[in-house]
Amino acid sequence: MLDFLRKYSREQLDSRRMDERRGFPVSLIPDLAHAGLLGLQVPKRYQGRELSHSDTAKVMRQAGAIDCNLLIYLAVHNTLGVPPVLQFAREDVRSAVLPELAQGRRLVTSAISEPSMGSHVRSITSTATKQPDGSYVLNGGKQWISLGADAHYVNVFARLTDENGQEAGITGFLVDTSSPGFVRGPEVITLGLKAVPQNSLAMENVHVPAEGLLGEEGKGLAAAKTAFTRGRLVLATGALGAAMRALELAQRFARRREVATGNLAENGRVQQIVAESVAAVQAVETLIEHITDRLDSGRDVPEPFYFAVKILGCELMWEVIDRCVQLLGARGFVDTNVVGQFYRDYRLFRIFEGTTEAITVYLGSMVLKQPQHFLSIFDDFDVDPKLAEHIARIDKLTTTTTTSAQQQHVLAAQIGELVCWSLLAVLAADSRNRSSMYAHTASWTEQQLLDKLRTAEDSRPFVELPTVDELARHIGDFDTSLGNVEQRRPGIQHDLDLLLRRG
Ligand SMILES: Cc1cc2nc3c(=O)[nH]c(=O)nc-3n(C[C@H](O)[C@H](O)[C@H](O)COP(=O)(O)OP(=O)(O)OC[C@H]3O[C@@H](n4cnc5c(N)ncnc54)[C@H](O)[C@@H]3O)c2cc1C
Repeated sequence: MLDFLRKYSREQLDSRRMDERRGFPVSLIPDLAHAGLLGLQVPKRYQGRELSHSDTAKVMRQAGAIDCNLLIYLAVHNTLGVPPVLQFAREDVRSAVLPELAQGRRLVTSAISEPSMGSHVRSITSTATKQPDGSYVLNGGKQWISLGADAHYVNVFARLTDENGQEAGITGFLVDTSSPGFVRGPEVITLGLKAVPQNSLAMENVHVPAEGLLGEEGKGLAAAKTAFTRGRLVLATGALGAAMRALELAQRFARRREVATGNLAENGRVQQIVAESVAAVQAVETLIEHITDRLDSGRDVPEPFYFAVKILGCELMWEVIDRCVQLLGARGFVDTNVVGQFYRDYRLFRIFEGTTEAITVYLGSMVLKQPQHFLSIFDDFDVDPKLAEHIARIDKLTTTTTTSAQQQHVLAAQIGELVCWSLLAVLAADSRNRSSMYAHTASWTEQQLLDKLRTAEDSRPFVELPTVDELARHIGDFDTSLGNVEQRRPGIQHDLDLLLRRG
C-alpha cells in the first residue's frame, strides 16, 4: 500500500489541480479501492484488509505526507465512517454493508455536527422518533459533513424519543442516503482541503428500519466515540506525515541557501528552529507509536492519550509546517511549493474532531473532577524522578481554588494542556536511550512541560479579565474606524431558470 501511494503520488495525483478545481481525478476512488485502501481495518471476513493499528498509521502518515485531501478521504471513510458500523451495527447489517465499504463500492461518513453545535456533542438537536413497528423517523439538520454528498451511508447521531414519548438519549443510526427525505445541501467553500466536499444534510421524516440502529438506544455517544477516538489518532498521524515532508523540503532548501551569515542550515537560530521541529515530530511520533502498540497488543488506551495525540499532534505539527513556511522565505508563500498548501490544509486539524480549546478544557475538567485519575495515567510507566516532581506540581495545581466559572475554564485549560505535555514528556523520556536525537527530544519535551508548568503556576492569582460587555463595547467601537464594508455584490446564478424546471 505504501508503494502504491508513493507511485500514485508521482504518477497520478496533482495536488495543485485538486486544490484549484476543488475535486479529485475521477479515477481516484476505484484506484484506492483496488489497492485495498478503503477497507484498511475491516476484517478479512468482510473483504477488508484487516490491518493492524500500527500499519494503518503508516498508511495514514504516508497519505498525509502526499496530500491532505487524500488523507481525509481515507480517514473519513476508514476511521469516521467504518468503525461505528463495524463495532455497533447488527451482524446481518455488517455482513451486507461492510464488504461494500471495504471494496469501495460505497462510501460512508459520520454526521455529528449541526448548525447549533459542533464541539458540544451532548447538545445535538436532530431527532429520532421510534415508531410502533420498531423503526425510526429522523428529522433535523447536519452541517460540515465531509463526503456528505458522496457517501451512500451516513452514521447519523440524533436525540431519540421512545415509543412512550420519553426522551431516550443520543442514539446512532446507519442511514442509507437514498432514503426519501434525505436531502444533501450545498457544499461550503473552505480555506483548504478543497478537494473534499463538506455539505450540510437535511433529514425530513427519513425512515430508518429497526436494523439501522447502531448499538443500543440512548447509547449513541459510545458509537460516536469510536469515530472520534480513531479519528483523533489518524488526524495526528496524517499531520505527522505532512510535518515530516515539510521539514524535508525546508532542510533541502536550507542546505542550499546562502544568507548573510553563510549557509542557512548552519545558522544557529535556524539550526535551533529545525532541532525544535524535529523534536516535536519525534515526540508526536513516539506518542502515536505508543498508542498503536497498545491497541495492537489489546491493551486499554486511557482517554487522555487520545486527547493528547489530537491536541499536541495537530497543534505541534501545524506549528512545524508554519515554521517551514517561514524557513522557506518567499518560497514558503508560493502555493506550488507544497508547504504553503499544507499550511492551509492542515490548519483544519486544530478545529476538526473537536477544537483544541474545547477538548483541552474538557480534559482538564475531567482531571479536576477526579484528580486521582490523573496520576493513575502514569501507573504503567517507570517515571523519571525529575518528571515525577513536575507531575506532582501539576497534581498540586488541581487543588487551585477559583472564584468564577471563567477562572475554572482557564484552570481547566491549563490542566488539560499540562496533562498532554506530561504524557508526551514521560514517553519521550522512556525513549531517551534510543539515539542522541531521542535524548534531545526528551530534553526539549521536558523543557516545554516545565515552561508551561511555570506559566500556570505564575498565573496565580488569576488576572481579572475584562467583562464580556466591556470587550463587546470595545470591539463594537471598531465599527467607527472601519465602517460597513460587507460585500453584497450578487453572486453567480447557478440554479436552473424557473421557466426551464419541471412543473
Ligand atoms: C472542513 C470541515 C470538515 C468537517 N467534517 C465533519 C464531519 O465529517 N462530520 C462532522 O460531524 N463534523 C464535521 N466537521 C465539524 C467539526 O468537527 C466542527 O466544526 C468542530 O468540532 C468545531 O465545532 P464548531 O464549528 O461548531 O465550533 P464551536 O464548537 O462553536 O467552537 C467555536 C469556538 O469556541 C471554542 N470552544 C468551543 N467549546 C469550548 C469550550 N468548552 N471551552 C473553550 N472554548 C470552546 C472553540 O475552540 C472555537 O474557537 C467538519 C468541519 C470542517 C471545517
